[in-house]
Amino acid sequence: MTAITVELNNKIKKAPVRGMMENVMEQFNSAADHIDLHPNIRKILSITNNEIIVHFPVKMDNGEVEIFTGYRVQHNNALGPYKGGLRYHPTVDIDAARALAMWMTWKTSLAGLPYGGGKGGIQLDPSNYSQGELERITRRFTYALADNIGPEHDIPAPDVNTNSQTMAWIADTYMSTRPPAERTANQHVVTGKPEGSGGLEGRDRATGYGVFLNIKFWAERTNEALYDKKFSVQGFGNVGYWAAYFLEKEGAKLVAAQDAFGSIENQTGISVENLLNYNKANNGSIVDFPEASEIAKESFFETDCDICIPAALGNQITKDNAPKIKAKLIAEGANGPTNGDGEKILLERGITVIPDILCNSGGVVASYFEWLQNRNGELWQLDEVMAKLDKKMKESFDKVFEYSEREGMDMRTAAYCIAIRRIEKAYVQRGIFP
Ligand code: GLU
Repeated sequence: MTAITVELNNKIKKAPVRGMMENVMEQFNSAADHIDLHPNIRKILSITNNEIIVHFPVKMDNGEVEIFTGYRVQHNNALGPYKGGLRYHPTVDIDAARALAMWMTWKTSLAGLPYGGGKGGIQLDPSNYSQGELERITRRFTYALADNIGPEHDIPAPDVNTNSQTMAWIADTYMSTRPPAERTANQHVVTGKPEGSGGLEGRDRATGYGVFLNIKFWAERTNEALYDKKFSVQGFGNVGYWAAYFLEKEGAKLVAAQDAFGSIENQTGISVENLLNYNKANNGSIVDFPEASEIAKESFFETDCDICIPAALGNQITKDNAPKIKAKLIAEGANGPTNGDGEKILLERGITVIPDILCNSGGVVASYFEWLQNRNGELWQLDEVMAKLDKKMKESFDKVFEYSEREGMDMRTAAYCIAIRRIEKAYVQRGIFP
């Protein structure tokens, strides 16, 4: 008889992202002070509603069993079902999931969606696993979460290192756990599915397109032209690539890029399409791209450019690099890329930050469209999706920009004030049970 080896997942080299909770709480409290938020609502919003941690075994290709730890944190559902992504990354832990879930609550509220905020994922480095292993990990994680998610309760979506394939596995597994007559009616348990399996045309580009739109709206408000502007992108995944794609179409120039493996620069401009093709052929890395030179990781934020788009992980702009940043606009494609100390320095230096909860909200807005499409049994066309996205993003940008001008505050605090007010109103209207 073969013995079954059960061991804890030892492929993880944990690189903790420190202080994400401190970061989100600092941002929340500063806005709550501004609007004089009722102390009871402040108490409620300072903690998460539910935290689900699951440990589950998965058989690896070599026949051994590994145990994985998955998280789903449901921060708040005052405005509707919990909504937010699942990420597969070594930095996923309870602290990160809590902070990211809170950011989703502010993001969905600001966007005017009928959603609350949730987030989760698995602590793993997907590059260590085969496609078959990732499928079994995802399906087993979904099975473990099945009683705690649902199309009208908690609706996951893609995030760092997860994609439409991951969502297809989740939808299929979740639907299989339902009674036969209810299966297809549960397709909207996740958004970000592939087109053809309930996915929305344009969902793939929605976050990056939203980042681009925010930059465009900022340029319009400040009488700047995007043509010939230099920009840098940290992270060349779904968000970074599409933001760069749309900026390049407006005549802006990508001059520096960074991914998990290295950083590159070319002040005369990097072709976004060439970089994408190189990245695909090079196992998802931009390192050694022939049309640019390699630069040190630390100098990425110092590169000469007008606009910088952090579109990777949290806590990237800190007191160490903020004094050296040359860009005059930071457009946050990632969640929580600027920490409190970093932001203070940026603001003192007169650098504008379009905050994550506004800047990257195109993804969850498109998720909402997908959810509606599924719920109503419709199939929306790409041009219709993009036009609706445009309109929604413009409304949010205008609200935040005007609030910040009127109140003389930075755009992040303004965005938080608007988001928190909407949730506060729901609590005031309904009261607190019992
Ligand atoms: N993961 C994305 C975010 O952080 C999308 C979430 C969603 O579509 O639910 O906003």
